[in-house]
Amino acid sequence: MDQPDPALHLLRTVFGYQEFRAHQRDVIAHIVDGGDALVLMPTGSGKSLCYQIPSMVRPGVGIVVSPLIALMHDQVTALQQLGVRAAFLNSTLTPEEARAVEDRLLSGDLDLLYVAPERLMLPRTLNLLARSQIALFAIDEAHCVSQWGHDFRPEYIQLSVLHERFADVPRVALTATADGPTRRDIVERLALVGAHMVEGGFDRPNIRYRIAENPGNARDHLLRFIRGEHDGEAGIVYCLSRKRVDEIAAWLNTQALTALPYHAGMSADQRRHNQERFLREDGVIIVATIAFGMGIDKPDVRFVAHLNLPRSLEAYYQETGRAGRDGQPADAWLMYGLQDVITLRQMQEASDAAETQKRIERHKLEAMLGFCELTTCRRQALLHYFGDHLEQPCGNCDTCIEPPQTWDATVDAQKALSCVHRTGQRFGVNYLIDVLLGKENERAGNFGHDRLSTWGIGTHLSATEWRNLYRQLIAHGLLAVDVEGHGGLRLTEASRPVLRSEHRLMLRKMIRPAKAMRGKRDGSGVVDAADETLWQALRACRKSLADAQGIPAYMIFHDATLMDMLQRRPLTRDQMADISGVGARKLEAYGEPFLAVIHAGADTGVSSPRAVVESADWP
Ligand code: ADP
Ligand code: ZN
Repeated sequence: MDQPDPALHLLRTVFGYQEFRAHQRDVIAHIVDGGDALVLMPTGSGKSLCYQIPSMVRPGVGIVVSPLIALMHDQVTALQQLGVRAAFLNSTLTPEEARAVEDRLLSGDLDLLYVAPERLMLPRTLNLLARSQIALFAIDEAHCVSQWGHDFRPEYIQLSVLHERFADVPRVALTATADGPTRRDIVERLALVGAHMVEGGFDRPNIRYRIAENPGNARDHLLRFIRGEHDGEAGIVYCLSRKRVDEIAAWLNTQALTALPYHAGMSADQRRHNQERFLREDGVIIVATIAFGMGIDKPDVRFVAHLNLPRSLEAYYQETGRAGRDGQPADAWLMYGLQDVITLRQMQEASDAAETQKRIERHKLEAMLGFCELTTCRRQALLHYFGDHLEQPCGNCDTCIEPPQTWDATVDAQKALSCVHRTGQRFGVNYLIDVLLGKENERAGNFGHDRLSTWGIGTHLSATEWRNLYRQLIAHGLLAVDVEGHGGLRLTEASRPVLRSEHRLMLRKMIRPAKAMRGKRDGSGVVDAADETLWQALRACRKSLADAQGIPAYMIFHDATLMDMLQRRPLTRDQMADISGVGARKLEAYGEPFLAVIHAGADTGVSSPRAVVESADWP
């Protein structure tokens, strides 16, 4: 072809990527031709290019409506790093700064302008736009337009004026989370009837889902997981309570990791400070309650760890979804145990929500518990829950990688259940296990439980194995937890067929967490010592360049780009230009230092990165 497609040309020269992803090509062609589009794609699928490139190809400026002022600055900085003429207009600018941006807008000196919705709606802004040439409107986080969505923003409703006042300008709405009703709202309110629609489902194939039973020392397992697989990488650790957040953060810091707490009990300033460090520095771990995460757009979060059970699969999907937005391998790691199940069940029973609400919550928790106890592919189950479909087991979750074994637990379950029955359906698990193991204690003597038929009938299993069994019995709904909060268990209807041997109960065999949670990420490419050394040297080089400009490391190059360098080891400028994510501007600005790092690695075999990156903050 003598006349290369201008969109593809920009993709290669500016962004440094070789090919469009399938959905990008179609949407971009459609918008470049002046059509409207609705893009429903999961996080990390590359939605931003769908409006960035058409904004550059079409004459005029692309107006991007985005609800999160905090993120605009980062997005614009990232574009400027690529040499794209981008700016934002929002309340953080001084009047002089805003005026300067407006001048650039009017004189056609911008490819992209990010605007907060309330700013856009000001008569002044609308008048400015009317006097400018506009390439398109992109409405990011479009689900905010819907009252059905979880993140409704009244300002978004007014965006309907766009098609009234700027009828000829294409509109593209984008979101990663829209169920049926939300989608209909978006189409209606933004007048997108007949728009080209791309839909990508919910799958996040780069996230590896892993769930293990907590044998009582979750903290140590967490540490081993981070050390073994994510040393020096950014991650989020979710805990249920503020107290636990503070504890875990403090403990990780004593283990030579950089961990910062984040919860609603801290001052707004402290929280902002910690969030900022997490975004800007390399390899910071944030330990948080679920208060953390909304509007976090950090692409290189390599793991999300849960030290407690999320309330629902929706919450689990959303929280784990903060990992691996850059599409690189990432881990969703959850450790849960008997106590989680008991606590959540109790909280639910004790809540004074209306009965219908309670029923919904019970159902959601059941789905979450069922998900934890699965013996088949987790991704298939997760996607199924969201009405999506995956033909084959994924091969990238713990149950696929190491299929759990099941055992016929009928007889032991009968022992566990009849122990509940014979002790009067009011004791908690620890006491029940003492009875099963025949562990002499004062209470048992007082109650006469040492004379029961279930006294000491369980010595063939350990206390841990009994806890594991009780957890599964509760998770499967054969036992209910008391409302008063003492953890007493009672039988449910569902336990009868098992007690009467009418129903065989197959349960998950306990997997030792060390085993279940083992394994370096596939595809990370970091295999041997020389690789590891070069990888660290590339990261150090990136960090020093980022620090010099006061921007986050990922704005220099994403992990995927460093990984490509690691695998292909470019030695010349031309070879460097071939690396995915190295466009013309970045080749110019950063090609040399990275080539020097790779050369040094090649010369010495296993190089000393310190010699190469003088200014780097080498640990
Ligand atoms: P989303 O907005 O859908 O969450 P992004 O637009 O942030 O996704 O893109 C996710 C990642 O994929 C980014 O690191 C981006 O640079 C990368 N990416 C996007 N399109 C391509 C492409 N065609 N080739 C290679 N990488 C791409
Ligand atoms: Zn799987």
